[in-house]
Amino acid sequence: MKKQNVDALVNLAARRAIILPAFNIYGDIGGFYDYGPLGFRIKNNIVGEWRRTFIESLGNLEVETTLISPAVVFEASGHLKNFADPIITCKKCSKSHRADKLLEELYQKRNDLEKLSGIKKMDFKEMGAAVEAEKIKCDSCGDPLKAEVKSFNLMMGTKIGPTGDLQAYMRPETAQGIFMDFKAIHRTGGMKLPIAIGQIGKVFRNEISPRKILIRMREFTQMELEYFFDPSEKDFQINNRKPDMGKALGTKLNFLSSELQASGKAEYEHISLKECVTKGYIPNEFMAYMLSIEVGFLERLGFKQEDIRFRQIVKEELPHYSLGNIDVEARLDSGFEEIIGNAYRTDFDLKNHEKYSKGDMSIVNGEKKLVPHVVELSFGLDRIFWTLLANSLYMDDKRGWEVLDTNRVVAPYSYVVLPLQKDEKLETQALNISDQLTKKGITNYYSASGSIGKRYARADETGIPYAVTADYQTLEDGTVTVRDRATAEQTRKKISEIA
Ligand code: AMP
Repeated sequence: MKKQNVDALVNLAARRAIILPAFNIYGDIGGFYDYGPLGFRIKNNIVGEWRRTFIESLGNLEVETTLISPAVVFEASGHLKNFADPIITCKKCSKSHRADKLLEELYQKRNDLEKLSGIKKMDFKEMGAAVEAEKIKCDSCGDPLKAEVKSFNLMMGTKIGPTGDLQAYMRPETAQGIFMDFKAIHRTGGMKLPIAIGQIGKVFRNEISPRKILIRMREFTQMELEYFFDPSEKDFQINNRKPDMGKALGTKLNFLSSELQASGKAEYEHISLKECVTKGYIPNEFMAYMLSIEVGFLERLGFKQEDIRFRQIVKEELPHYSLGNIDVEARLDSGFEEIIGNAYRTDFDLKNHEKYSKGDMSIVNGEKKLVPHVVELSFGLDRIFWTLLANSLYMDDKRGWEVLDTNRVVAPYSYVVLPLQKDEKLETQALNISDQLTKKGITNYYSASGSIGKRYARADETGIPYAVTADYQTLEDGTVTVRDRATAEQTRKKISEIA
């Protein structure tokens, strides 16, 4: 089977209504997408695995905070001042472009790794000069873009109340709600650092030029986990248990250090987390431990090792709040894309909320009073969804159709249940089987329209791992055929054996 390109996924997503451009009947604005029925199920399955891994298994907490906050919150967090991207506007047709992304796309196409990593170190002036020197043209009118690059703030504003006096903003990350509530949650008692609080929800960024379907959106979903810890504590526990650090640090991963980026010599090297800590690529052991958990999470979703790399963020590229970031990136045809941002946010956010609210964000941990430090794990759900599907879509020339190779963790349904052909008895039997599976908690859907071959093809391209077919033998002895998508082979089984 041959891996398909992203265009094939775009096509499949539209054909099967997996992803739909939002409010499309009024024209596409860009950056807003709806999830159709199958996409919604896949997305929810990714959420489920995230929750099992990062909340349940680690004994962590989860909250839901507001999408809108008054401006002061983002003054405190620094977003109103610093959360901006470089914008370049076409002098002829006024179309706006994101300057760094124009260069990134150009150097990715040329496979110039050295220049690619150089973009992160450029200031706006250098970026503008590079766009002009490379003679990059406006993709709307074709006019060469001129050097003037400005800062564009990504916050989406709104007003609260009938007088409209209170300026507010849509949150650009879920984290701030967690920071503001942290102390009240800690006060509920009995907690010892490290404590982690997670949140899954929508966030909003007024992106200059949304791109690549779910990669750069204006409204998207994050799954974030804020780990509050005492930086002076070397011997940390997770959920009252000692973590197996030997195992965690022994985990090997594809890592792109800032040194390797500067040399432009390779996409990554395959090294252990222990080596990453020793060489200073990762700011602390605690963060290394969390990265080892991310490796397992991505594997369980079905990412293959060669499609994932961990990248140390170079100093010039660090967000305003961070003392060290490691991004996780997934492969797309056009190059690697960030899907998870891991940041050592220190006590930056809590201290700033302390300052702006004139409150006290410190807590007492054991005998010690402190404002904890924070390591943040920030997952872009839509990007994980999109890159996972892009790396799972194959063309099977033997079958003559596409196969979406999703495992049972993320597949929209585990089974499709099919009557062999149009026949009332077979249809009743198949519906009955579908009900039995549902009662056992096995996700499935019933499909009767079209030839059996067409229905297998539909199940294959939408990632359903198994097909159960009720045929005439089923009516006699209660056995069915179970077709495995991976091999397209069928075996006969009793209905009760289906698991
Ligand atoms: P950040 O706070 O920028 O590190 O973002 C955290 C995660 O959110 C990233 O790793 C991405 O997966 C995701 N993300 C950021 N910006 C966008 C966007 N415009 N569209 C979709 N996902 C995004």
